[in-house]
Amino acid sequence: MSDRLTIAIPSKGRLREPSWSLLEASGLAPEEPGERVLIAHCRNADVDVLFVRADDVPEYVQDGVVDCGITGLDLVREREGNVDILLELGYGTCSLQAAVPTEDTATSLSDLEGRRIATSHPRLAAKALADAGVNAELVKVVGSVEIAPRLELAEAIIDLVSTGSTLRTNGLRTLGTLFSSQAVLIGRVGEAMNEERATLITVLGSVVNARANRYLLCNVPSDAVDEVTALLPTKGSPTVMPLATPGVVALHALVPANAIWQLLPKLERLGATSILTLPVERMVH
Ligand code: AMP
Repeated sequence: MSDRLTIAIPSKGRLREPSWSLLEASGLAPEEPGERVLIAHCRNADVDVLFVRADDVPEYVQDGVVDCGITGLDLVREREGNVDILLELGYGTCSLQAAVPTEDTATSLSDLEGRRIATSHPRLAAKALADAGVNAELVKVVGSVEIAPRLELAEAIIDLVSTGSTLRTNGLRTLGTLFSSQAVLIGRVGEAMNEERATLITVLGSVVNARANRYLLCNVPSDAVDEVTALLPTKGSPTVMPLATPGVVALHALVPANAIWQLLPKLERLGATSILTLPVERMVH
C-alpha cells in the first residue's frame, strides 16, 4: 500500500452519491472517476478513493486493504466486520423493522414466536430475535423481501425501512424497529490514530456537524433576549450585539436544522424581526 490514505466508498447503490458528495463537500477535491474507474485521486490531500461494493467495505477495512471505509452500519453488523466506527455520517438513515400483513393479529415481536420470517439480513434479524427471546424460523431471501408474505414464503418479514412507503404499498404493518442504521466511517480495529486518519475524521466530521445545523440571525427587542435565549435549542450561548436603533439587539446562534420549523413562529411571537437562517459549511466543536 502507498503512503497515501485510502478510503473505500460504495461503487453503486443508495450510499454512493451521498458518500461522494461528502468527500467533495469536505474539500478533498476527488477527481471525477470515469465509468469503469475503480480509484479516484484527491487533489487537495494525499487521499485515494476506492470504489467497492457497499457489502465488501467492512472486509476491505478489516483486512487492511484500505485504511478507512464508508458503508452502512447495518452492513458492518451483518458482515460482523471487526472494525472501529470512527464517525456517524448522518445519511443513509434507515431502520431494521419487523412487519406483518396488515390483517395479521401480531402486535409485537413476541407474537412472531414459532413463525416464519423472511429477511435478507439474517444475522441482524437472528440477533434481534434472540435479544427479544423469540424463537422463529428465518427464511433467507435476496431482495424483494416485502413480497414474501404474499408468496406465502413467510408470515412476516424483517427488512430495512427508511420512509415506510414500501411496507405500506405491499400491505404490511410494522411491529417496530429492531436496529437503527446510518452511513458510518470505519477504520481497522485498534489502528493508531495517525495524523492522516485524525485529519480525515475532523474534516468529514466538520461537514457532518455543519449539515445538521443552521446559523440563525435575527433582531430581537432587548427586553425579549432572555425569553428568546431560553427558547433556543442550542448548547452554547447566543451572540447578542447592539444595533444603532435603541431597544433592539441582533442575536446570532447556531441551531439544529430540524428545530427551525418549530422555532420560527415562536421567534416571531416574541417580536423577532429580520430572521435569517444560513447553511453552515463547516463546524468543529
Ligand atoms: P444499496 O446498495 O442501495 O442496496 O444500499 C444499501 C444500504 O443503504 C443499506 O445497507 C443501508 O445502509 C442503506 N439504506 C438506507 N435506506 C435504506 C432502505 N430503505 N432500504 C435498504 N437500505 C437502505
